[in-house]
Amino acid sequence: MPGKLAIVDFNKCQPDKCENGVCSAARACEKKLMKQLDPYDPPMTRSVSCKGCGDCVTACPFEAVSIEVM
Ligand code: SF4
Ligand code: SF4
Repeated sequence: MPGKLAIVDFNKCQPDKCENGVCSAARACEKKLMKQLDPYDPPMTRSVSCKGCGDCVTACPFEAVSIEVM
């Protein structure tokens, strides 16, 4: 069964323009699959148990997040 993965486009991601450097997309993922090592860092994503809901996509103000089917 194909999995899903949230992909961050690092050319569009601007954590310095997000609230206190905190990624809204990461905050929106109820499964906590997107993580920032520190504020003002771009988020890292994981495919494990991503349901492809798109909450992270909607939450990013810079359209930096998309969902890929793997
Ligand atoms: S992915 Fe979107 S919400 Fe998250 S830090 Fe980058 S620009 Fe901000
Ligand atoms: S698509 Fe849904 S489950 Fe997957 S990383 Fe985004 S918010 Fe989390």
